[in-house]
Parts: sequence; structure tokens; C-alpha cells
Amino acid sequence: MTETRHTKVLIIGSGPAGYTAGVYAARAMLNPILVQGLQPGGQLTITTEVENWPGDTHVQGPDLMVRMEEHARAMGTEIVTDYITSLDLSVRPFVAMADSGTMFTADAVILATGAQAKWLGLPSEEQFKGFGVSACATCDGFFYRGKEVVVIGGGNTAVEEALFLTNFATKVTLIHRRDTLRAEKILQDRLFNHPKVALEWHQTVEEVLGSTPAGVTGVRLRDVRDGTEKVIPCDGFFVAIGHSPASELVKDQLELHSDGYVKVEAGSTRTSIPGVFAAGDLTDHIYRQAITSAGMGCMAALDAERWLAGIEEAFQ
Ligand code: FAD
Ligand code: NAP
Repeated sequence: MTETRHTKVLIIGSGPAGYTAGVYAARAMLNPILVQGLQPGGQLTITTEVENWPGDTHVQGPDLMVRMEEHARAMGTEIVTDYITSLDLSVRPFVAMADSGTMFTADAVILATGAQAKWLGLPSEEQFKGFGVSACATCDGFFYRGKEVVVIGGGNTAVEEALFLTNFATKVTLIHRRDTLRAEKILQDRLFNHPKVALEWHQTVEEVLGSTPAGVTGVRLRDVRDGTEKVIPCDGFFVAIGHSPASELVKDQLELHSDGYVKVEAGSTRTSIPGVFAAGDLTDHIYRQAITSAGMGCMAALDAERWLAGIEEAFQ
């Protein structure tokens, strides 16, 4: 039988944005319910060292997220292990259906569903996913002890993944389509000075080579300047080309930017539907950091509190 739960504030997502919204909404006595989704703790749970969370010169991503969860819970947020499969923002209260069958109704919703890894979209990439193709070095790096791997991408994620893989692999080749990385300079320095790292500039991956079930044996590259091709032998191929916003639940209901990020009013977390707020990587195509996501989670809870107070006043 379907269980129905009502809450003043439903928080969807358990990354830095969701947990911070939980801390603030709970302290505002709104008794929030937070639904964690398939990745409790969000993206930071698939990384190792985080060096830019204020107050911690070094902290492991998964540990930081456990602490945030404990903090949100201690303040009074009810944390539910479930996944929202559909959300109806056309009715009041809003209705969210969860994978378990529970129906949540909510006066206000804070969307904090973050972002998910992008893939190249090659048929051969799809063919070898789980057989040598991965988007998570922290999860799969261990399998490449004593082997050679290739990473594609030029941002912080690609450089961090490449550096992490040097703990296992004998050689790590980073492939980038330009000759300048987006990654922070401190990470670039570590990469350029690492003896196990090789760089391939101006290259894209045309095909992942291998056989089933043996797995990946190499990647075929194309030089974007003159179209020449070459093969780099490797046992593992890591895709680290960025993330797309997880806006599937609301894509036909809220105003989005052309690249799928949820639009919010400047300087706030208010979306195009009153009572629905968005925070973190779901709405941010510029900064996309743990600290900015947490900051927006705080803003969303404060925006929700003020909006709910306004509604209550209108009915008094
Ligand atoms: P996310 O962390 O993406 O969390 C989204 C949450 O939404 C997840 O809990 C997921 O389960 C949930 N969710 C999604 N859909 C649903 C649904 N339908 N129902 C319920 N829940 C749902 N930033 C830094 O500042 N420093 C770093 O060192 C750093 N390292 C990184 C390393 C890697 C490998 C990656 C990928 C990112 C890194 N980042 C780092 C970026 C940082 O992780 C993100 O900016 C931040 O996690 C975004 O937080 P968020 O709360 O918006 O969303
Ligand atoms: P990103 O900054 O968007 O970088 C994606 C990289 O992949 C870019 O270099 C891009 O190339 C390349 N790329 C994109 N599509 C491609 C394609 N189809 N083929 C080949 N290359 C492609 O993504 P990210 O590195 O995942 O970082 C996301 C956010 O998380 C950023 O804000 C980042 O700062 C944050 N983050 C922070 C840390 C940290 O603070 N230590 C760690 C990880 C992530 P171009 O450069 O040519 O566009």
C-alpha cells in the first residue's frame, strides 16, 4: 500500500547543497524530510582528498559527506534512503513519488539533485563500460595496478583522476582536445611534474579498442588539427569530461537554461515556480564547487522559510 507523508519542506538530494539545506531548514523548525537518492553524499563520495573545504586542509570526500549527513540529522532533518521517480509541481501541495512507493506531499521543495558524469557517446565506450571503461577512478583505479591507463578531459576532475591513477598504474596518459587545461594551476603543476604521466594535446578519442570479455586494449585518437590518427595501447580508459545537471525530474516543469541547468532568479534560489527552490550543481554552471553548493543550500532553506512564512501570513 502507498504510504503518504506530508512535510513543509522536501529536500531532494544529499550532496553538500541538500545537507546544508537540511541543517538550515531544521534549525528553522520546518521539520524537513531529505531524500538521499542513489548516491548518498553526492559527488564528493567518489573522490579522495578534498583540499579546498574551509577549515580542513585535507579531508576525504566520503568522510566529509558523512559528517554533513550527521550534522543535518542532528539538527532535526529526517533523512530518507529513497529515490524520487516523479515530481508534480502543478498541484499544491507538491507531490513527489519515491521508488519505494511512498508519496511525499510538500508545501515547498528544495531541489539539490546535483550533476552526473558526462560520457563521450561512442558505441565502443558503451560496449566496454565495466570492462575497462569507467568514469570513476576512485571506484575502479585499484583494478589497474601495474597496468597502463588513459584519461580524457582537461578540467579538475580529469587531472585529479589522472593523479590518483598514478597510485596504481605504471603509466597514465591524459588526452585533451586543446593545449590548455582548465584545471587549477596547483593540480596542473602536480600533473606536469609527475614521472608516470604523459600528455597528448589536441586529441579526441574516436574509438575504444578491445574485445569482449577480455576488455579494453587501447584507444584510437584523432588529432583535431590535421585529422591524423594513432592508437595508444592501454588496459583502462577513464572518461572525465565534465558533468550534466540532474534536471530530469523538472525538465518539463521549470524554466531551464539551454544546457539543462535550472534557472533561478539572480541572487536567490527561487525557480520559475513559487515554492520550488534549486541549489548546487543543478543550477550552477559556473562555480560547481562543494562550498558554493553548500552556500546555495543555505540560501534555499532561508528562501523556503521566508516563502512559507509569507504563505502562512496570507492565510491568517
Ligand atoms: P551532488 O553532490 O551532485 O549530489 C546530488 C545528490 O542528489 C546526490 O545525493 C544524489 O543521490 C541526489 N539525487 C539525484 N537525483 C535524485 C532523485 N531523483 N531523488 C533523490 N535524490 C536524487 N568540489 C570541491 O569543492 N572540491 C573538490 O575537491 C571536489 N572534488 C571533486 C571530485 C570529483 C571526482 C567530482 C566529480 C566533483 C568534485 N567536486 C569538488 C565538485 C563537487 O563534488 C560538487 O560541486 C558538489 O558535490 C555539488 O553538490 P550538490 O549538492 O549540488 O550535488
Ligand atoms: P569541466 O571543468 O567542465 O571540464 C570538462 C573538461 O572536459 C574540459 O577540459 C573539456 O574540454 C573536456 N570535454 C568536455 N566535453 C568533451 C568531449 N566531448 N570530448 C573531449 N573533451 C571534452 O568538468 P570537471 O573537470 O568535471 O569539473 C566540474 C566542476 O567540478 C568544476 O567546476 C570543477 O572545478 C569542480 N571540481 C573541483 C575539484 C577541486 O576543487 N579540486 C575537483 C573536481 C571537480 P575544454 O576545456 O576544451 O572545454
